[in-house]
Amino acid sequence: MSRMTIVGGGISGLAVAHRLAVSHEVTVLEAGDRLGGCLKSTTLGGHVGVGLDLGAEASLVRRPETRELAAELGLDLEFPSPHHSSQVLAAGRLQAIPKRTVMGVPGDPEVVRDLLGDAATARIAAEVLTPALADSDTSVGEFLAARLGDDLVDTLVDPLLSGVYAGRCRDLSLAATVPALLPAVAEGTSVLDLVTALLSARDDQAAASDAAPVFMSLVGGISRLIPALESAITAAGGQIRTNSPVTAVQRRDDGTWTLTTPEGEDTADTVVFATPAPVTAGLLAEAAPGPARRLRAVPYASTALVVALLDLGDGPLTGSGFLVPATADTFIKASTFASNKWPWLAERLPEGTALIRMSVGRFGDAPGTWQELDDTALRDRAFADWQEITGRTGDRIIVSQVQRWDDALPQYLPGHLGAMADLDAEIESIPGLELVGSAYAGVGIPACLARAETVAQRLSRPADHHPTETKETL
Ligand SMILES: Cc1cc2nc3c(=O)[nH]c(=O)nc-3n(C[C@H](O)[C@H](O)[C@H](O)COP(=O)(O)OP(=O)(O)OC[C@H]3O[C@@H](n4cnc5c(N)ncnc54)[C@H](O)[C@@H]3O)c2cc1C
Repeated sequence: MSRMTIVGGGISGLAVAHRLAVSHEVTVLEAGDRLGGCLKSTTLGGHVGVGLDLGAEASLVRRPETRELAAELGLDLEFPSPHHSSQVLAAGRLQAIPKRTVMGVPGDPEVVRDLLGDAATARIAAEVLTPALADSDTSVGEFLAARLGDDLVDTLVDPLLSGVYAGRCRDLSLAATVPALLPAVAEGTSVLDLVTALLSARDDQAAASDAAPVFMSLVGGISRLIPALESAITAAGGQIRTNSPVTAVQRRDDGTWTLTTPEGEDTADTVVFATPAPVTAGLLAEAAPGPARRLRAVPYASTALVVALLDLGDGPLTGSGFLVPATADTFIKASTFASNKWPWLAERLPEGTALIRMSVGRFGDAPGTWQELDDTALRDRAFADWQEITGRTGDRIIVSQVQRWDDALPQYLPGHLGAMADLDAEIESIPGLELVGSAYAGVGIPACLARAETVAQRLSRPADHHPTETKETL
């Protein structure tokens, strides 16, 4: 039986281990004292009778991967309240985010008139066509600003994208983050026409699927996938070791791998790195210097989340949260009213309280913006902003928790997908080495699961990538 070691016990590493543990000798080595990486939950010291996510909090419904995994693990899906609606801070007040857009880009400029005003709407309507960029990637923000103007980009597109990537849309790759708009880039044709066609196709799908929700979660948070995966892996015979940071990796002449942890050395026929790109780069610096260089070039954003149980002194909270454009120059960049968004959470809270999440930090923040503040100062600054933006000065924090996510979200800059395809080609020539995680083909949970599945399937094929099996079949 081939020995497979998976470095990193986030959702990507555990998903690979889950697939392989039934048929291989699988070991997961996790640096931290818990599994899950960016999936983590809290009960706020027992103040809340159910888990609340401190990191990722939802998964896209339209992609099948998370739904299928949850079904396999026997977990029932939960959906946001049908009444949930998000706002954006514009012209100094919270306003509804227009629904008929693709990542903030309307097909009909009229849908953003209330939000952006007459001049910005006229600029959008007068779309300026730019030359075709066949086969090349571009910055989503720069492309849309040239086509439709700065106001739309800064007020709507940027906060929506920042909510997913913690990045700035003028930095991010269009091909990687909003691939639906690629035809307009490649062919030099109208974005407005393209979005109109996309929305009309979306209408047809929604009619067919009875307006299915966009996101899903689980009672206790999406992070409940982690203990369920852990149980399934160990039940299938896989080994999981926490507090086992891999500090060095060597490829031996016979094609096997040696991994060093504080406990000693492990030998494996195949190593799957499920660690953030800079960590993987460091570990592969000697064994695979070319891939390590490419991995080192992927930048990461740091963010922090403050979750708080509120005493609603100002009465019921409405809506499911808000986004703040970077141009507004506030301390917080977004807030989710978690208990308004998720009925399973609201049902378990005392009357007159609510749970909120406040996010701080974007890629490219100057040092000293928030990182150096201690948790109390960070919470106080975030909540002061929250109160000012919402106008709810009568609400009080009952209990809160700060979670910092240092270098957690890879930034997909223009050219990212091409660079990762080149990386994959290089990795293919190194037997017994695989890479999974959010750095490669999508940061969301479904994309991480999809890559994990592809790698696990490849490794499950006999005589592929495993020196031991190759010898046996020969
Ligand atoms: C704040 C936040 C909110 C998010 N919200 C959403 C959301 O709502 N929906 C969504 O789909 N996605 C969301 N994401 C993205 C998604 O959660 C992540 O992209 C995904 O969970 C990454 O999983 P991963 O296993 O690839 O990496 P990680 O979760 O980063 O796991 C990597 C693991 O490797 C371990 N490790 C590191 N170094 C070593 C070492 N030397 N040896 C052994 N182990 C090591 C780490 O401790 C960690 O456990 C969010 C991310 C963040 C940070």
